[in-house]
Amino acid sequence: MQYLSTRGKMPPARFRDVLLEGLAPDGGLVVPAQYPRVDSLLPRWRGLSYAQLALQVLSLYADDYEPAHLERMIRRTYTPAIFGSESITPMVELEPGLHLLQLSNGPTLAFKDLAMQLLGVLFEEELARRGENLNILGATSGDTGSAAEVAMRGRSRMRVFMLSPYGRMSDFQRAQMYSLQDENIFNIAIEGSFDDCQDLVKAIGSDVAFKREHHLGAVNSINWARIVAQVVYYFRGYFSVARDESEQVDFCVPSGNFGNVLAGWIARQMGLPIGRLIVATNENDVLDEFFRTGRYRVRRGAETYVTSSPSMDISKASNFERFIFDIVGRDPGAVRELWWSIDTQACFDLKHTPFWGAVAASGFSSGRSNHADRIATIRAQFERDGRMLDPHTADGVKVAREHRRAGVPMVCLETAQAVKFAQTIREAIGREPERPAAFRGIEELPQRYERFASDPEQLRQFLQVHAL
Ligand SMILES: *Cc1c(COP(=O)(O)O)cnc(C)c1O
Repeated sequence: MQYLSTRGKMPPARFRDVLLEGLAPDGGLVVPAQYPRVDSLLPRWRGLSYAQLALQVLSLYADDYEPAHLERMIRRTYTPAIFGSESITPMVELEPGLHLLQLSNGPTLAFKDLAMQLLGVLFEEELARRGENLNILGATSGDTGSAAEVAMRGRSRMRVFMLSPYGRMSDFQRAQMYSLQDENIFNIAIEGSFDDCQDLVKAIGSDVAFKREHHLGAVNSINWARIVAQVVYYFRGYFSVARDESEQVDFCVPSGNFGNVLAGWIARQMGLPIGRLIVATNENDVLDEFFRTGRYRVRRGAETYVTSSPSMDISKASNFERFIFDIVGRDPGAVRELWWSIDTQACFDLKHTPFWGAVAASGFSSGRSNHADRIATIRAQFERDGRMLDPHTADGVKVAREHRRAGVPMVCLETAQAVKFAQTIREAIGREPERPAAFRGIEELPQRYERFASDPEQLRQFLQVHAL
């Protein structure tokens, strides 16, 4: 498999060449040259275990590994010891025809573990092969940071420097990150907002010489390997609710940076009979606005609301460019023009262009949810069967219900467990969320973090001393 950039100016590369990268050198996103069709393989794939299925999917996209080598890395990752059960991603039925694919039984209780755990293994192996070190610099509002730290902790040749907004995460999320005592993990609490954290990462990252000298890298949601690892569970979800391959299944996905639902789009392009892909947003409805109106209008910092489903509080969807690349017939010139329009006018509009027909044919649709919806959905589900939905998953379930089609099973993706967002759960049902045994009392563990002002100079000096 060859990889290209959505902006068309990257020499063709292989999976391992792009593994450690974020943006392509021309400012675009890395995409495979084509999506392999697997229609005829589906009956055979149906009976595979999660790890076997992951191997089938990954070997189409990462064919520059020895098959046995790739298999070893995948088998080490998708185990009951790490993901809590043989099935890795269990399915439950919320009501007749509405299913929940549980993706958050990994070590940090959010779906990001499914990709990040594999990334940890792939990165360590790739760095050893190259004889290089990597210092991962990132910003988090909660879930990404802990998934990355837990996936990379104790691994050789890498260090993680994770910025988080001081005092703005839930106590549980803070404890998950700050209680890690591994020497290669550095938590940096910034006196400011998540946007300030991101600006600091950008300020450091735009200094190309500094970045190179200190081997800085990222594990953000545009990393291609993360996307492809997520494709696997759409297949698993499909097989567990469709009786045979003639049936369609709809998926509803709580979305922020468009990484999770993009993986569903790729599965659909590969021939998985997904009917509709429904994007659920919160009050930050950039994506819902696009799918309703054709207008993609990125928000400025102050226009991004702080909500009770914080992992979906985004002002632009960083993976969206990969989808638009497909919509414009994979023409990099068209992508460059649209993103030039974003750079100059903060928006583009596909409504009155030939591309709007391709969006209509894509199977995508969307909806939004707000705080009151979230609370009502969590409460109603708890009253029905005692199940506690996390606020992001509740946004998905609310939107999924609005998009039910007669005779078509709907799968909503669970993106996190309720315990990470106790305050909202208390507001909805007046009690504490259930807590898996491994997490009892984590708030009382000693915490290890640096506390910095929102100042690039202080961060730069810290990296100079502590980066590998
Ligand atoms: C990251 C995250 C999302 C958003 O996923 P994207 O891939 O960015 O669209 C939704 N819910 C939770 C709990 C998350 O951690």
